[in-house]
Amino acid sequence: MITPECGAILDAISLPVLLIDGQGCIKAVNRQAAALLKDGAPTNMAVLLPGGGEKFLRSVRRNSQSAHMGTRLAAPLEHYYPTSSRISLKGEWQDCYLIELFPRDIAVGSMRRVSTSLRREAQLRRTCVQAEETARSAESEACEDPLTRIPNRRAFDRWLAELAQQSSHRHHPFSLLLIDMDYFKRINDNHGHDVGDQVLKTVARLLSESLLRPGDRVARIGGEEFAVLLPNTDVEGASDVAWRLVKRVRDYNRRIQRQQSGYKLSTLSIGGTAWCPAKPVSAQALMKAADQSLYQAKGQGRDQAVILG
Ligand code: GH3
Ligand code: MG
Ligand code: MG
Repeated sequence: MITPECGAILDAISLPVLLIDGQGCIKAVNRQAAALLKDGAPTNMAVLLPGGGEKFLRSVRRNSQSAHMGTRLAAPLEHYYPTSSRISLKGEWQDCYLIELFPRDIAVGSMRRVSTSLRREAQLRRTCVQAEETARSAESEACEDPLTRIPNRRAFDRWLAELAQQSSHRHHPFSLLLIDMDYFKRINDNHGHDVGDQVLKTVARLLSESLLRPGDRVARIGGEEFAVLLPNTDVEGASDVAWRLVKRVRDYNRRIQRQQSGYKLSTLSIGGTAWCPAKPVSAQALMKAADQSLYQAKGQGRDQAVILG
């Protein structure tokens, strides 16, 4: 029984609205729905839902609130889709359902807009990830020596600054080794630049392999010059590492001589110095001190390490 108050409430809804019972019988329509159904309201929802009426009613009865996008309504409602809500009276569930008719183009249009914006968002996220990857690989390329594939001078300068800062903060020592290949120019002159490049690569590999502690680092800082940073390492520790490197190249060359194939490497001259928390100096002063040790190693006959405190 539709009271005048109930009719007024239905008319106040801006969408076309039908009230149906659980059998699909239309109990009332609001003014907007009546305007759509010019020939008068049909008495049964089945009229509006050729073939799909029973299915629609089943899902209406099952759900207290539901949008039936898949339900196709017959003319003159073919451009609408129904959404259903179960109506309750004084808290009691009634076998009565409010069917609101939504214009299909608005719903489909807004779904398309949502899916377009989701697609755009996904594309944007992919673009951001790609940009980050490009920036990361540009950064790693900028810090890598293209020939030997070990870190370059730029990376080394950064490490040195960081290590100096950390060590001074924690009151730990660290050591710096500067390595110069002996008479390297002769390899280029005698065997050609390509062999020179191979020799550089092999030395870079041997140096990397000879550093045993995870924090130890090697970089190619110039043509045939390398540098090693040894955190938590004093003069004695630095001297051990430096001589290990010198001997590694000597061993390699002995093997080449035995095998009588391949090219001998230039021997190494290494100059080193330790940074002490008791006597802190700048990174620049440390480089200068290590260079002086290297100069001394060269002056004393090369193929050796000189580490000064
Ligand atoms: P010393 O024992 O006094 O250090 O003698 P050296 O011959 O090693 O030193 P010098 O500075 O006279 O020569 C270094 C040579 O390293 C000269 C340069 O052509 C060569 N060189 C620098 N970079 C590269 C490179 O990337 N590839 C090759 N093949 N040679 C390089
Ligand atoms: Mg040199
Ligand atoms: Mg040299």
